Amino acid sequence: MESSSRTERYHLVCRECSLERLYHAANDADARSRDHAADTGHRVVVDRIT
Ligand SMILES: [Zn+2]
Repeated sequence: MESSSRTERYHLVCRECSLERLYHAANDADARSRDHAADTGHRVVVDRIT
């Protein structure tokens, strides 16, 4: 795999509490957002920042 996406960031924000994090990997952000949604029932959004 190419490493051309190294500088991308994934901004995870929960719409229903103060959770907000930055991730370098989509997989990490996705896993965390699913975790949080499963734990709390909150709606979590992940925006890719290029
Ligand atoms: Zn939340």
